[in-house]
Amino acid sequence: MSSFPSVPVFDAVAPLQAQVAAWRAGQERLVLVPTMGALHAGHLALMARARTIGTRVVASIFVNPTQFGPNEDFSRYPRNTEADLALLAQAGVDAAYLPEASAMYPAGFSTRIEVAEVSEGLCGAVRPGHFSGVATVVTKLLNQVQPDVALFGEKDFQQLQVIRRAVRDLDIPVSIEGVPTLREPDGLALSSRNRYLGPQERAQAPRLHAVLARIAEGLVAGKPADPLVAQGRAALEAAGFGPVQYLEVRDADSLAPVPDVSGGPVRVLAAAYLGTTRLIDNVAAG
Ligand code: AMP
Repeated sequence: MSSFPSVPVFDAVAPLQAQVAAWRAGQERLVLVPTMGALHAGHLALMARARTIGTRVVASIFVNPTQFGPNEDFSRYPRNTEADLALLAQAGVDAAYLPEASAMYPAGFSTRIEVAEVSEGLCGAVRPGHFSGVATVVTKLLNQVQPDVALFGEKDFQQLQVIRRAVRDLDIPVSIEGVPTLREPDGLALSSRNRYLGPQERAQAPRLHAVLARIAEGLVAGKPADPLVAQGRAALEAAGFGPVQYLEVRDADSLAPVPDVSGGPVRVLAAAYLGTTRLIDNVAAG
């Protein structure tokens, strides 16, 4: 036997469903962790969490073409399947699901899921169609794998809320759980896109989290959002970010804009470019 762990790989849905059915017959609790690959420690935090709440963990890797806009980085999105599978094996994942795009979207595919309200504004405003692509592919993955629980990172907070809403609205029988963002020691949220950053950009990048944390502190101290956001935007621009696509304070559940924390927990969210790399991040307040 090899001393290197390996993970069973499924590239078609039927054999995966046969494996899932066998697990179900054994009363196993199944957790799904959807990813787009290029795995890093943030993804592995999701796998570790999955191990603690389920008896079987399926990780999917699918760079979903329908959630990328025409001028986005679909073709240059990092892909490294061998390294990803080695990491999944080390993480103790029970199955890796790597569907082919042609099987996910066969000729004649014509359905899209649109989630109003939580998809609007923030990333939804600057990435038209993105959350419809996400909601559609995640619904397909949930229907294919039928997990008890599916895990998503708070790093993509609007995505998490869009998925929660779609699952609730469509009565999909799964529990959605958010996992806190894993960060570098300097505060930068781990992301597959961080590898695009040059050395100088990498040095500037942690300011994004610092600015969000400062706004959150001000909000918790009772200050109104608008002046905090204006100062934060100026600080990001001074630190070399541009354009700052959005920097906003929103209700943590509905993602509706809010003036302060008097109405309950909020989220401070931002998307900004450093050179050609688009970074997003968010923190809780209140
Ligand atoms: P992606 O491969 O970028 O689609 O990410 C797959 C999952 O990992 C999503 O649910 C992300 O929110 C989550 N994720 C990405 N980066 C992090 C991070 N730094 N900490 C926690 N979760 C993350």
